[in-house]
Amino acid sequence: MSGSTIIPWVVGNWKMNPMQANSQQLIQDLKQQLQQQPISEQQCHIGVAPIAIALLSVQQQFADAPNKIMSVAQDLSRMAGTGAYTGEISAELLKDSGIEFVLIGHSERREIFGDTVSVVQEKVKNALNANLKIIYCVGESLAQREAGQAEEVVLQQICDIAALVKAEQWNNIIVAYEPIWAIGTGKTASPDDAQAMHAKIREGLSQITPLGAKIAILYGGSVKPENAAELAACADINGALVGGASLNAESFYQIAQAFAKSKE
Ligand code: PEP
Repeated sequence: MSGSTIIPWVVGNWKMNPMQANSQQLIQDLKQQLQQQPISEQQCHIGVAPIAIALLSVQQQFADAPNKIMSVAQDLSRMAGTGAYTGEISAELLKDSGIEFVLIGHSERREIFGDTVSVVQEKVKNALNANLKIIYCVGESLAQREAGQAEEVVLQQICDIAALVKAEQWNNIIVAYEPIWAIGTGKTASPDDAQAMHAKIREGLSQITPLGAKIAILYGGSVKPENAAELAACADINGALVGGASLNAESFYQIAQAFAKSKE
């Protein structure tokens, strides 16, 4: 029991996975798990972020699931609207296709694809203008943590977008704290360390907006069924962004269930 009134979110980041047949199987298995033991939307919001070309088909395949499963875009263009930008998908085009959520600032985008702070800011601006809901990822590297800079780095990443978000638009922001050293490594931040950072993020958000206490702050970084309940029990951990374990329906379902139970 976390004591928070925020309905948790559990979002699976499928990254550049899986092939179509595996994706269909994953969806079918997840729907079956939810049919056998439903998780209501009052207990936990659930979403998955498939590859861009599968966003709509995944959304359609989940249309008859026992509860709403959000289809989340993994990224969007820093260019807005429509135009001659080969290979890009704008916020407006996502919205026009019925997609409501987008990840921005994931460390893989920042580190591998050159999403600098200004690119991240442009993406946030575009997403907000198109009325998309953003899962905004923040997190420090191992070197930054070891140098005692984790808090400073993460709070700066929150500050990076603060001036772009209008008062009421904080309703459209979810924060995901993902220590980079814990992503895909099997290493998870201890619940105490994760909670301490989440509390700092909450404090930072509350200094920026009166909605700070209501913003969901998800934890990401090797979340699995074995550690989900402990993380879910932390006061300021309001859900999980799940990479590897979201590619297995049973694991993902168990994580969602752990967070749903934390509300009971
Ligand atoms: C992620 O990439 O957002 C993530 C948290 O991955 P993993 O769960 O595999 O560490």
